[in-house]
Amino acid sequence: MSGAPVRYRIEPADPAAHLFTVVCRVEEPDPAGQLVSLPAWIPGSYVVRDFARHVVQLAAAAGGEAIAISRADKSSWRCAPCSGPLELRYEVYAYDLSVRGAYLDLTRGYFNGPCVFLRVHGHEDRACVVDVRPPSDDRCGGWRVATSMARDGADVHGFGPYRAADYAELIDHPVELGHFDVVPFEVRGVPHELVVSGRHRGDLARVVQDLVPICEQHMSLFAMPPPIDRYVFLLLLVGNGYGGLEHRWSSSLVARRDDLPQPGEKGVSRSYCTFLGLASHEYFHLWNVKRIRPAAVARSELREEAHTELLWVFEGITSYYDDLALVRSGRIDAERYLGLVGDTATRVWQSPGRFRQSLADSSFDAWTKLYRQNENSPNAMISYYTKGALAALALDLTIRRESGGERSLDDVMRAVWARHGQPDEPVEEEDFERLVAGVTGLDLAAFFDLAVRGTEDLPLAELLAHFGVRFECLALRDGETRLAADAPANPPALNVRLAESGGRLSFTSVLSAGPAEAAGIAAGDELVAIDGLRVASLADYHRVLGRVAPGERVRVAAFRRDELLELEAVVGEAPRQACRLTLDPAADEAACRRREAWLAPG
Ligand code: ZN
Repeated sequence: MSGAPVRYRIEPADPAAHLFTVVCRVEEPDPAGQLVSLPAWIPGSYVVRDFARHVVQLAAAAGGEAIAISRADKSSWRCAPCSGPLELRYEVYAYDLSVRGAYLDLTRGYFNGPCVFLRVHGHEDRACVVDVRPPSDDRCGGWRVATSMARDGADVHGFGPYRAADYAELIDHPVELGHFDVVPFEVRGVPHELVVSGRHRGDLARVVQDLVPICEQHMSLFAMPPPIDRYVFLLLLVGNGYGGLEHRWSSSLVARRDDLPQPGEKGVSRSYCTFLGLASHEYFHLWNVKRIRPAAVARSELREEAHTELLWVFEGITSYYDDLALVRSGRIDAERYLGLVGDTATRVWQSPGRFRQSLADSSFDAWTKLYRQNENSPNAMISYYTKGALAALALDLTIRRESGGERSLDDVMRAVWARHGQPDEPVEEEDFERLVAGVTGLDLAAFFDLAVRGTEDLPLAELLAHFGVRFECLALRDGETRLAADAPANPPALNVRLAESGGRLSFTSVLSAGPAEAAGIAAGDELVAIDGLRVASLADYHRVLGRVAPGERVRVAAFRRDELLELEAVVGEAPRQACRLTLDPAADEAACRRREAWLAPG
């Protein structure tokens, strides 16, 4: 696209006040008055965040003269007509530690483009040049820059000019500032970097050793060559946190510092496995959602919600392949992988909302439900991540079974890539199911009606049996998310979710049609005693309730606000919602071969 580039200068001007100063220079502003705006949301995180609310001050000038600015709407400003060049100068408050925001203090800076870079309307296709300035505060000495944005004169990891082809690309490169570790590595000849901020003692060489085969596995699945010439994992380590956001040439991850393996540590701990799954998930997205894009999102100008019923395709299928890549790349064994699928299934089975909301509706309503959950969410909704991952598993196994092992979801994903990814043809609502039919030659309409538009449970036990895997649902005690080794077979339950905090135990959710709901217990109630015995922890709860048989009555004492209530509950049996997947020792040779083909590298 012709025309002078839009130039930005961003400076961590006042780290102690968490303020970036940004200057945006437009050489040829709209003679009728330049419109500028900040996005209302960031791709990959489907909720309206209204980034413009963090702009503290905005001023415009041209030729040394101040230019009047008026508000156009909650996210936009219009400058008075001027002949240019127009300079907009503004401060952005940045104190959000998440992967979707911007952050600045004396230890570190981080920003996503939608938080800090004004969109210059009518100039979206022009190149963008960003001068990333170092902090002037002496307390921020020695800071460096990490980003996947192309350098335009800056040294490697240095401050200075960077460049993006257009505005959409500009806001797809998060930037990390500060002191961080960098481990460069290659995957099939493509340079990658692991950039780690936050205090830690993790073994980063080991992390890279595990990331390489996972990345290779995803590349193999989609077939060569990979659509990237560089890739950066930006990882922030904290005491307690978890999250990720995908980009075309990078991803931002937040994890617990204790998730990383320590030097000399062997094996894959549970929390390290979670970390590898997260990195695997975001990397898979560089194909599925960043380049194979939902049309509703591709068309969006990021001003309002972009509804699609397909988020399960982009997040559910990605959630299926994230853990599958761990077993296919040899990071974990088959038993361990089946344990992970069991954890996902348990989360779905623990949500009565799965009988009320379909995957299509979960996708469409992401903006107001999945991203804005409350105490009733487990009863009212189902996540397109967890149920979407199970639907992808069921789809894969169905295709394999119905095609006699000739086809799989891997073939579908390669075809989606060839049809919608490489040529950048965004995926319309009907495209995915049509393409599955085309690739497999199977009529799967009934499958999609059940899995995507229906609310009945997926037939996982029957499907998995064909692949030599046993699927069982066992009783799970209140407040637990995984079957304990010494769990009783038929424990009593009130059917609630609980949280311990500061020596107190509270009900966080009361599940539909359970004993607690019938007794009038409400989310937020602080549990004080059961049958006159103090209950202040989950251990107390299990000990006291564990002596009661299902069908018996108990007196539950709880505070609601500052009022003490005594309620009578008829204790029930714990629902069978702990899903356990194991290798079936009775599986025949053909079933074992099918299982091996499924879990073999894609
Ligand atoms: Zn995702």
